[in-house]
Amino acid sequence: MTVRKLAMTGEIQKGAKIHDLVKAPANTPWAIERQQSWDGNLPATVYYTPEMTSDGKTCTAATVILRTKGCHWWWSSGCTFCGYFNDTRDDVTNENLHAQWEYAKKKLNNFEGMDMVKVYTSGSLLEDREIPVEFQETVLSECYELGKELIVESRCEQLTEEKLQWATSINPKFTVAIGLEAYDDEVLKFHVNKGFTTKSFDRAVKNLQKFDIRVKTYLMFKPPFMSEADALDHIVEWIAAVAESSDEISVNPMNIQRGTIIDRLHNDRQYRPPWLWSLVEMIHKAHDIIHPNGGTNGDADQVSRLIVHPTAGGKIRGSHNCGSCDSEVVAAIERYAVSGDLLEFEGIDCSCKQTWREEISLERCLPTPLGISLPRRGDRAKVLRSA
Ligand code: SF4
Ligand SMILES: [Zn+2]
Repeated sequence: MTVRKLAMTGEIQKGAKIHDLVKAPANTPWAIERQQSWDGNLPATVYYTPEMTSDGKTCTAATVILRTKGCHWWWSSGCTFCGYFNDTRDDVTNENLHAQWEYAKKKLNNFEGMDMVKVYTSGSLLEDREIPVEFQETVLSECYELGKELIVESRCEQLTEEKLQWATSINPKFTVAIGLEAYDDEVLKFHVNKGFTTKSFDRAVKNLQKFDIRVKTYLMFKPPFMSEADALDHIVEWIAAVAESSDEISVNPMNIQRGTIIDRLHNDRQYRPPWLWSLVEMIHKAHDIIHPNGGTNGDADQVSRLIVHPTAGGKIRGSHNCGSCDSEVVAAIERYAVSGDLLEFEGIDCSCKQTWREEISLERCLPTPLGISLPRRGDRAKVLRSA
């Protein structure tokens, strides 16, 4: 067997295809063993969190992450950072999914006291190859009958007029969250391996608007093979590009999921997850796009809602700063997602901000496309194991 090392430059004669690198971990014995250990009748996770309804009222939202066959794009290729395959089982049936749904409802008392239900499938709920149509119908109709705001996730190619006509005939008002990641075809192709283009996103949004379905767009902060400074500049452009057409924009700062391309880059110390300071800077730059007259959430000038949720914030595998200011900065970012008020960041500072600023300014003047981020902080043994 030939062992290929994932390297940025040289070392391998022929460039490794992203496709082959993405697929490799899903077939490792640990991944297969893990998949087979799941009970097909139990969802991956069920929990609730504070949220905001589409009218801007605070509410409680249920999140149901179902154990599915996963994403059809993953079956043939996959995105460079996506670790959802860790949560799937490829023999899940319609009966299993209905059992999972019943379990979730029972656990959360039929979603009593919750205005919103998010149903996530590690792929696209409206994709017939992944999710049996009967089950799609169950989710759409039951959430409508229970009077809950429903949020589902989807890639772009499922969002055809025909499919949306069918879905809205069952549930006339729901939200579709699209993992666009980047409004840039080069980044989609070479950094994310997304398998669709900005054109297909535009088409999907047009169809969603036609059926009065709310659009939530996920963007990725700092995809692989990109410096921190480039990531910062790009994300502001992408927010501007999708603000008008998105009811909500959720920026996901990269967090390292097991067995992914980004995991291998991280292990090789070739990638540092974003600085929390970069997220603060991004919010300051994007605020004028979201609130052109300097307002806050709920004001008349609001173009979209900007949500930033640093998953694993403060940890080595998530967005982080020096270790001592992390929790304070994460809390301010989370507060901004609700209030839309830049005052949340008043008085927050740390000596590591200077290091971050230097890195960004060096990356802007040196020809270092992959960035110069310093090696990760932390306990040496843990750093070596990338724990
Ligand atoms: S489209 Fe979504 S679920 Fe599918 S591989 Fe990409 S990130 Fe993962
Ligand atoms: Zn700090």
